[in-house]
Amino acid sequence: MPELPDLEYIVSVLGPRIRGRRIDEVVLKEPIVTRMLLPDAGGFARALTGRTIADLRRHGPFLDFSLAPDGRLIIHCMLAGRLQIAAAGEKPVAHMCFALHLDNGEWLRYGDDKRMGKVYLTGNGSLAAIPGYLDQGVGILSPDFTRDRFDAIIKGRRHQVRVFLMDQTALSAIGNAYADEILFAAGIHPKTSCASLSDEQRGRLYDSIRGVMTWAIHMVREAGQPIEVKMRDHVKVRNRKDEPCPVCGTKIRRAGVRGYDSFFCPHCQPAPWAAGTGATSLRPSARRNREIPWERKE
Ligand SMILES: [Zn+2]
Repeated sequence: MPELPDLEYIVSVLGPRIRGRRIDEVVLKEPIVTRMLLPDAGGFARALTGRTIADLRRHGPFLDFSLAPDGRLIIHCMLAGRLQIAAAGEKPVAHMCFALHLDNGEWLRYGDDKRMGKVYLTGNGSLAAIPGYLDQGVGILSPDFTRDRFDAIIKGRRHQVRVFLMDQTALSAIGNAYADEILFAAGIHPKTSCASLSDEQRGRLYDSIRGVMTWAIHMVREAGQPIEVKMRDHVKVRNRKDEPCPVCGTKIRRAGVRGYDSFFCPHCQPAPWAAGTGATSLRPSARRNREIPWERKE
């Protein structure tokens, strides 16, 4: 559930509240979400107790807590994982899997109603045992993600563009919701083959990746909700089937792309195989689309 903008928000809110805090008690209710990769440290709860949280950062879709004197707690929330930081007395997040009591009296809790998320307690030497951790592609917010780099990565790809966007070994990291939002901003149909994109379309796609993510980070931060709340009110097409496109009014459609639901506007994102749609050039409505807030330079 949490995608890159949500994770950036979690790091910005949670980081200052937990840095330097010692974990003095661990409540573990759902051991199924945990993976113990620290040899000779006892069980998950015993090994965490007494360690101090030194730092928190995001690595692709992972939240990476470095611990002192050693070890790392690495969380991949998958579909439904949520974190909560709360005073003792506040209602715990639903479907709580574990909770860490900090030495200032606050609780850091993890809830996950599907229990599909993964929580690893590991050392630096065991990162290879965490699926996806070491093979993340270029960070889409990093200075390394230039137009040239993007062209080099997408060159030769034959996937449908939505499948490519979600390949985390290429781009780190775009999830379902923002893949749809990026393609809408770029005016590109989700099933377009990467190989068929023009230079201009690749440029629009690159600009939209950076533009939509920067905009979404801003929107999530502005909403200022507690970190356990899912904040997606600002999305324009995701999960909006049959609602009017905010640009042209056409009903948003849903299509299956390699087993994932994809939401798009059939007018602003014309199918490339539909003859005479002008799919390689932007329709006037899609051009207007580019002028809505995420393109605004701040
Ligand atoms: Zn539209």
